[in-house]
Amino acid sequence: MAGAYETTNRYLQLAFDVLRLDHSYKTLLWTPSRELRVELVIQMDDGTIGNYIGYRVQHDDSRGPFKGGLRYHPDVDLDEVRSLASLMTWKTAVVNVPFGGAKGGIQVDPNQLSQRELQRLTRCFTQSVMIAIGPDLDIPAPDMNTNARVMSWMFDEYSKYHGFSPAVVTGKPVDLHGSLGRDAATGRGCLFAIREVLHLAGATLTGMRFAIQGFGNVGGWLAKLLFEQGAKVIAVSDVKGGIFNGDGLDIPRVNDHVAETGSVVGMPGTEPISNEALLTTDCDVLVPAALGHVLTQQNARDVRAKYILEAANGPTTFEADEIFNERGIVCIPDIYANAGGVCVSYMEWTQNTQKTTWSEEQVNTSLERHMVDAHRAVVKLQEEFRCSMRTAAFALGVRRVKNATDLRGLG
Ligand code: NAD
Repeated sequence: MAGAYETTNRYLQLAFDVLRLDHSYKTLLWTPSRELRVELVIQMDDGTIGNYIGYRVQHDDSRGPFKGGLRYHPDVDLDEVRSLASLMTWKTAVVNVPFGGAKGGIQVDPNQLSQRELQRLTRCFTQSVMIAIGPDLDIPAPDMNTNARVMSWMFDEYSKYHGFSPAVVTGKPVDLHGSLGRDAATGRGCLFAIREVLHLAGATLTGMRFAIQGFGNVGGWLAKLLFEQGAKVIAVSDVKGGIFNGDGLDIPRVNDHVAETGSVVGMPGTEPISNEALLTTDCDVLVPAALGHVLTQQNARDVRAKYILEAANGPTTFEADEIFNERGIVCIPDIYANAGGVCVSYMEWTQNTQKTTWSEEQVNTSLERHMVDAHRAVVKLQEEFRCSMRTAAFALGVRRVKNATDLRGLG
C-alpha cells in the first residue's frame, strides 16, 4: 500500500492530467515549501526525561499564510504530516479561504501523559517552531487529540515572545478569543456537504441511514446535527469499539453515555459493532471520521454504502478509491467534505485580526455559503472534465493555487 504522501500525490496527478498541467508546475505544486522536524525534551511528572519528535510541514502559501492543524498521535510521522499539509493547500483553495496549507504533529500517545505533561510538551513544541509560525505566517489549529485547551497554551506561549497574538492559532476557547461555532464547524460543514450532494441527486437527509467511525469533535458533532435533521445514525464508534441500532441511535443519549463512561461502548439498547464491521455495515452514507487509510483494497468491495463522506483526512487509499469509482459509490472527498473547520478558522482569524466578534448565526451563515459555493464550483468542473468528485475538487484547488502562483510570479 502506498504511503499517505504518495496517495495524495496520486490523487493530485489525476487533477494535473485533466488540467493538462505542464511538468514544471507539478514539481512546484507537490513539493512542500518547508519541513521542520524538532526534538521535544520535557520533564515528566515523576522527574524522568520525556523525548518526543514533532513536525511542522508548510506546503504552499501562494494564496495566503500557511494554515493547518496539529495532531498528537503515536503514528504521526513525516510522511503523514507531508500528506496532510498538502491536503490543506487544496482544501483552503477549494473553499476559497485566503490561506495556504500546512500541518503539524507530535509522535505521542496523549492518553499516557498528564495534563501538566501535555502542557509542557505543547509549550516546548511552540518554542521549537516559533521561528516559522505567526498570525501572517503559519496558523495552527486543533486536529486529532488536540483541542481548544492545547490551542490556549500555544497562544499563551507565543504571546510571551511576541505580545498579545490571538490570531497565531485558531480553534481557541470562546472565552479566549475563539469563535462561536468553531467547535461544531467541521461537523456542520460535513452536514452541508452531504446535504448539497443529496440535493443534486434529488434526495434529502430525512431517513438517510448513516454509519460514523469516530465520535470525537467531527464525528460527534456531525452525529448530533444529523439527528436534529431527521437522519438516522445507525452506528457510531470510537477507539474502544462501536454501537449499532438499525432503528437509529438516540444521539443525545449517546452523548450522555460518553460523558459518563468516556466511550460509546456499552450504551444500553444498542448492539456492539467493531470498527472494521462498521465500515461495511448496510447504510446509505458511510462516514470515516477518525483515522486515515481505513478504506482499502481489502474492504472496499464489501462497503455497502452509496455515499462516502470523508470527514477524516485521507481515509481512502488510491486503490479503494478506484474500486468505489468502478462500483458507482460517490466519494465526497476530504478536501471538500471536512473543510468547514478551516472555513470557521478563517472567520476566527478574521475576528482576531479585526478585534471584533461575530454572532454564531453570522458564522454559520458564512460557513454555509462557503460550502455551497465550493460544491457548485466542484460540480461545474466534474461536468467539464467528466471525472470523479475527488478529481474535480483537486482540479479546482490546483487551478486556484496555480493562478495565484502565476500572478505572484517567480523569483
Ligand atoms: P478527535 O480526537 O476529536 O476524535 C477522534 C475520534 O476517533 C475519537 O472518537 C477517537 O476515539 C476515534 N479513534 C481514534 N483512533 C481510532 C481507531 N483506531 N479506530 C476508530 N476510532 C478511533 O479528532 P477530530 O478532530 O474529530 O478528527 C477526526 C478526523 O477528522 C481526523 O482525521 C482529522 O484530521 C479530521 N479533521 C478534523 C478537523 C477538526 O476541525 N477537528 C477538521 C478537518 C479534518
